[in-house]
Amino acid sequence: MKKMTCRQLGGACDIEFQANTFDEMAEISKRHGMEMFQSGDPAHSEVINKIMELMMDPGKMEQWMTEKKQLFEALPDEN
Ligand SMILES: [Zn+2]
Repeated sequence: MKKMTCRQLGGACDIEFQANTFDEMAEISKRHGMEMFQSGDPAHSEVINKIMELMMDPGKMEQWMTEKKQLFEALPDEN
């Protein structure tokens, strides 16, 4: 089990997510981002907009995902 904060994943707050795999982590953080976006949080809305922009450029999106994945892989496992 690894922990990452919203901010470490490119987000806007210090909420901690826990997951066993990077895919799981990405899914949890995405859900959180969308929830915050829907509740009208301006900081997270900005993050979502930035990610939407990244998604227009598959190369950049992939690079961004790779960076976050490397960060995840580098973290120590916690139980
Ligand atoms: Zn957040």
